[in-house]
Amino acid sequence: MADNRRAIVLLSGGLDSTTTFAIAKQQGFLVYALSFDYGQRHATEIEAARRVAAKLGAAEHRVLTLDDAVFSGSALTDHVDVPKLRSDKEIAAGIPVTYVPARNTIFLAHALAWAEALAITDIFIGVNALDYSGYPDCRPEFISAFENMANLGTKAGVEGGRFTIHTPLISLSKAEIIRRAYDLGVDLSLTHSCYDPLPDGRACGQCDACQLRKKGFREAGLTDPLDYVK
Ligand code: ZN
Repeated sequence: MADNRRAIVLLSGGLDSTTTFAIAKQQGFLVYALSFDYGQRHATEIEAARRVAAKLGAAEHRVLTLDDAVFSGSALTDHVDVPKLRSDKEIAAGIPVTYVPARNTIFLAHALAWAEALAITDIFIGVNALDYSGYPDCRPEFISAFENMANLGTKAGVEGGRFTIHTPLISLSKAEIIRRAYDLGVDLSLTHSCYDPLPDGRACGQCDACQLRKKGFREAGLTDPLDYVK
């Protein structure tokens, strides 16, 4: 792998995006990390993103503030209760209220603009189509459509550049992602997954994200370093 290849990595500070960052690094990319403050309740995730970017050695880390007015109505940004203690079956069925309208489209659009400005053609996103919460913008069809759009809608794309949206986790289970992170030596105590953390930052242990994470650690046979509310 050539040195000095550069990539944008979308970094939420969660388990998946942190592992994606480590994979991009392992593939030889110098990482430009991009995070968003979009009025999410779990603002502690931005702190997690900062910790991860510093620890994993981002060449640069930007945190963009988006106007949260556009996302109103989602449980992650609005005053709607985050669902708790749902069964695996319930989590797998339908699109939950924690869906944020067009979030990955908006995130990837910002990543694309920054990539084109920096003459970077590789963008990594930690979407996952297996152990996910039913979000349509985590599916491979969506990613492939976005990639086509990126190559049609940019000067770099039209002039022969080729944007690639990398999704190294797309077909992995949560347990496989966690094992991958351990193999890469990622300190998962830096990460944050909970949709509804306590004011002190501790994870609730009951929302879909906490449950998927805990199940992943169980299946991987590893111990989650996070401190959950008992
Ligand atoms: Zn939680």
